[in-house]
Amino acid sequence: MGKPFNFNHQFLLLLPLLLFPVLINSTTDEQPEIISRFQEYLRINTAQPSPDYEKSTQFLLTQADSLSLESQVVEFVKGKPLVILKWPASDPSLPSILLNSHTDVVPSEISKWAYPPLGAHIDEHGNIFARGSQDMKCVGMQYLEAIRKLKSSGFQPKRSLYLSFVPDEEIGGHDGVEKFSHSDVFKSMNVDIVLDEGLASPNENYRLFYAERTPWWLVIKSTGAPGHGAKLYDNSAMENLFKSIEIIRRFRASQFDLIKAGLKSEGDVISVNMASLKAGTPSPTGFVMNLQPSEAEAGFDIRVPPTANVESLEKRLAEEWAPAS
Ligand SMILES: [Zn+2]
Repeated sequence: MGKPFNFNHQFLLLLPLLLFPVLINSTTDEQPEIISRFQEYLRINTAQPSPDYEKSTQFLLTQADSLSLESQVVEFVKGKPLVILKWPASDPSLPSILLNSHTDVVPSEISKWAYPPLGAHIDEHGNIFARGSQDMKCVGMQYLEAIRKLKSSGFQPKRSLYLSFVPDEEIGGHDGVEKFSHSDVFKSMNVDIVLDEGLASPNENYRLFYAERTPWWLVIKSTGAPGHGAKLYDNSAMENLFKSIEIIRRFRASQFDLIKAGLKSEGDVISVNMASLKAGTPSPTGFVMNLQPSEAEAGFDIRVPPTANVESLEKRLAEEWAPAS
């Protein structure tokens, strides 16, 4: 979801400080209730491929009611509800904050679990076992519990605080956040900052990531005159493709060198990896070896950090990487 939003790093740093310590500071009296609400959410079977969104929606609306939050359910695709909760601002002229989480989880191989994945069993060390306990029902519940705590303290947000609980993230989010982020509902929310999924933390440090890279999938297809395998000539499809691959590999090495030298972290460089190679004329035993084919293709997975200059990368693709033919 990175692209459409205007990230403000200062706020990204402040918000978790605002939200999360309130959980750590919960009194022991409140903890059993917080845990049992979390368990209730975990026990709802929202595993792909057939998540029970009806039940999760009901649960979230009940939570919203108990917190006196405004709520609405939007279905861009029937049967795939998106739950939006709102804590209205004291100053509605300011842009809002959105806290996003997904309601679906990945399936489980039950036989490999120590405790049933929908049981939310708590062991003697306090560990909770459930599918989605980390990815990412814990985050959705932390948002709600932080709001509960802030509300009881009398806190009133200056900006509107929205929570979105979206479906189908685990299968690409096409019927969930993708439609949401292009919708009028989203526009009307006037969102300035979004916090989304991260990594679960085993301690009290909450790590913040702000450099999710965008995947660019590139296929280079080169053409050239076909010819006998014994003949050397310029501009065969394979030769043309290899010129591109060599240039791309040099770029890849230059980016990787920055990481190796400790100058940049992995999320700060443009990564390029060749993911496929397709060429050759099939024969019953494999490929015809004494023939140079007229077409060849290579596929690349490129990851572009938000800090990269997109125009110059596009220019590089068109002017340097693309084969002459
Ligand atoms: Zn997730």
